[in-house]
Amino acid sequence: MTVPRLRFAPSPTGFLHVGGARTALFNWLYARRTGGVFVLRIEDTDVERSSWDKVEGILEGLRWLGLDWDEGPEVGGPHGPYFQSQRLDRYRAMAERLVAEGHAYYCYCNADAARVADAALAGGEEEGDAPRGESWTYDRRCLRLSPEDVAVREAAKQPRAIRYNVPEGATTFHDLVHGAITFDNANIEDFVALRSDGHPTYHLSVVVDDIDMAISHVVRGDDHISNTPKQVMLYRAFGAIVPAFAHVPLILGADKRRLSKRHGATSVMEYERQGFVPEAMVNFLALLGWSPGSGNQELFGRDELIGAFSLEGISSSNAVFNPEKLEWFSAQHIASTSAEDLARRIEPLLRSAGVWRDEYAESQRESLRRLIELLRPRAKRITEFVEKGRFFLADAVEFDPDAVQKHLGTPAALALVRAVRECCATVDPFTAAALEPALRDLAAAHGVKPGALIHPTRVAVTGQAASPGIFEVLELLGRERVLARLDACLRGL
Ligand code: GLU
Repeated sequence: MTVPRLRFAPSPTGFLHVGGARTALFNWLYARRTGGVFVLRIEDTDVERSSWDKVEGILEGLRWLGLDWDEGPEVGGPHGPYFQSQRLDRYRAMAERLVAEGHAYYCYCNADAARVADAALAGGEEEGDAPRGESWTYDRRCLRLSPEDVAVREAAKQPRAIRYNVPEGATTFHDLVHGAITFDNANIEDFVALRSDGHPTYHLSVVVDDIDMAISHVVRGDDHISNTPKQVMLYRAFGAIVPAFAHVPLILGADKRRLSKRHGATSVMEYERQGFVPEAMVNFLALLGWSPGSGNQELFGRDELIGAFSLEGISSSNAVFNPEKLEWFSAQHIASTSAEDLARRIEPLLRSAGVWRDEYAESQRESLRRLIELLRPRAKRITEFVEKGRFFLADAVEFDPDAVQKHLGTPAALALVRAVRECCATVDPFTAAALEPALRDLAAAHGVKPGALIHPTRVAVTGQAASPGIFEVLELLGRERVLARLDACLRGL
């Protein structure tokens, strides 16, 4: 019994972006669903644009999302190396094999010079104009070279590339998302498999690796559909089994244009910095182009996703990236994460904000847990626990001048704060349940609505016009800190 083998094959020319993460996730989910193997392969043949930093960035993004790989960088495996830059000899050998077996030929044309010559022949272009690369196809002149012509070029040590000799006919492959897709080979030029500098093109390296790594399913972006017939020809030329393909739809911005920086953050780790929880990101990405079929369940934990995932559930129409939806998922996942777990995640944020206290340590973090419970109902990002928890976390109150002006700017407001201070000194126990009726009675005794007393009190103890429920805030702060803050306020801000 062979198990499915899937791979994520990023080119480390940038950080892990949303589209790549979604591709990785679909591969990972299918591998986990089927008891298969998830391979991570780094396609770093473009040495100028690839860097170790970027590889690290990609690994970091995958780790944050919890997409662990069974073979690949750091973990190794029986089909390594998993960096294309370490497999160049293998690509050269396989390209030579194509020539030896009559599927490819040496090409001595300097590709750029050939293009210019061709454009000149076609007329219409001024000398020096860049030819329109898309419409240019190689005229196969090197396929027609006589053995003598070849001998002359070899003797002169002319650099040579290896071009695949595209056969006549058509190439069809079955795509698990789009069904059968057929390309007329007449529209496919004899493409370069190995460049004259000895570097493979993407088509060659990806096929050689997918064969060597026994990949059974290729799940990747729609933008690779047009590459697939060339790769299918290579599989066949090598006598290898063609893997199953599933091309997943593009991710678009709200304006229906391909997702890019103009739509906001595209780097996955940027969402981490913005305080999104990875469970939400995974849930959100999973539903970009996939749906569970029956029912309208949207909230999925990791294991539920694994249980529900299928390649058949991938949609053939493009997915739209909706940041508000991501926030909704984040709020939902924060709501279902235990306070203890949230406390663990928030700790580094508290430390870097300089508001960490030893009393928040695991063994005695009751007060931190209570703060989390208080803020959690409205939290969309974990960074909010620090931002909105400042009234509790920091010693000094940071006053919002507008809030002070609006709610503490009159002698009447200060008189009410003084009354609240007296009440807070005596209420017992100092709990929300006891504070609420006491302060409401106090308002009635002064002939004002509760808000007239609550708003100034809130600004006095939190510095802000908005906070979670004031009675809970007071309880959490505790009598001592509340009295100190009210006193400070009465002494003048
Ligand atoms: N390195 C390619 C990319 O990042 C992988 C393409 C593929 O999955 O075949 O687009």
